Amino acid sequence: MKPLEKYTFGVGDRFAHQASAQLDAFIQARRQGWEVVPVWNKSNREHLTVGSQPPSVLAAAQAAVKAADWRHGFHVDADHIGIATVEPFLACSDFFTLDVADSIGKPAPARELDAFVAQHRSLIGTHALPGLSTPLVVDEQRLRGTAEKYLAAAIRAGETYRHILAAKGAAEFVTEVSMDETDAPQTPPELLIILAALADQQVPLQTIAPKFTGRFNKGVDYVGDVGQFEREFRDDLAVIAHAVTRFQLPAELKLSVHSGSDKFSIYPAIRNAIRDTGAGLHIKTAGTTWLEEVIGLAESGGGGLEIAKAIYAQAHAKREALCEPYAAVIDIDPRRLPEPSEVNGWASSHFVAALRHEPSCPDFNADLRQLLHVGYKVAAQMGNRYNDALGSCRQAISRNVTYNLFERHLRPLFG
Ligand SMILES: [Zn+2]
Repeated sequence: MKPLEKYTFGVGDRFAHQASAQLDAFIQARRQGWEVVPVWNKSNREHLTVGSQPPSVLAAAQAAVKAADWRHGFHVDADHIGIATVEPFLACSDFFTLDVADSIGKPAPARELDAFVAQHRSLIGTHALPGLSTPLVVDEQRLRGTAEKYLAAAIRAGETYRHILAAKGAAEFVTEVSMDETDAPQTPPELLIILAALADQQVPLQTIAPKFTGRFNKGVDYVGDVGQFEREFRDDLAVIAHAVTRFQLPAELKLSVHSGSDKFSIYPAIRNAIRDTGAGLHIKTAGTTWLEEVIGLAESGGGGLEIAKAIYAQAHAKREALCEPYAAVIDIDPRRLPEPSEVNGWASSHFVAALRHEPSCPDFNADLRQLLHVGYKVAAQMGNRYNDALGSCRQAISRNVTYNLFERHLRPLFG
């Protein structure tokens, strides 16, 4: 197990040009006394869409760290991998997010299920843990029902962990288990039982990403009951603190919030909860930086603005195909998407205002923002035209990338 810092923040850099601008946000955070460590994450899905290889993420991170003489930690996360997809990530990642959502609801072997229920019979009862909104109640039915739903996923996590361990030949990596890309959220009593199962599998779990209630749409704010989110988040923290001692899980085990970026309305709840409890936090963002690239292009005017408009026009034309892989994590109303012919007439400031995530700005368009969020494939297909524009508009892009991470994300969470 590689030690993981208390506060870690995942950033995505789809075209591998923004690592330095991203790192600048963490350097600014250090100046404020906020000790947050960057984790560059990129999923297999993103690599396939962009046509990039996992070692490019490590190379970009190392170059940024060296150029800035960053003396603190950083990590490279093989995000949402499984046994079938982990191979190209093995040499270049020190953080693995084991996505076991596909195994949720699949039956575990009956013998293992019975053994699990028998072994954890002591969980049956009422748990009045410090920090819980209401005591957790686990009866036999809930214990068995949760095992029926999640034991196969825990077993899968164990297999994937041991596969990585054997392939890397040393335990010098961080292990996260993610269950967020599924239909139903996991409740705090379910989390307790899931943690028991992961401990049984001897997964040295350092972060866990449950699915929370509410909508975590890509690149836009949280949709749901913030009060309920906060109760659930704090209950999860209480369950984790208890599970660490009860099941001998790593002391640094913490929640990982797969935020889909930009969940501004729940940031105060998260901030207050980690402050009150002293808990650590991992929070993942990814696409927010790609959107700042488009904002920087548009802000630069001229050829940059033209490319931003061309990306929108193509994304609009291909929207069904682009949205399909992200259907569970976007809510786009096509009627609210402006026609490309209209957007082509916009001034730079209008395009920027529509895309930039300032929810109070009257020109902000959350539908357009979500479409562009999933539209990075269009930029990938532009090849050199897009990459060259990133170079020629570098100043505006870097300024937006750094500002976005520092002011809109790190400050509300850690400031
Ligand atoms: Zn996720």
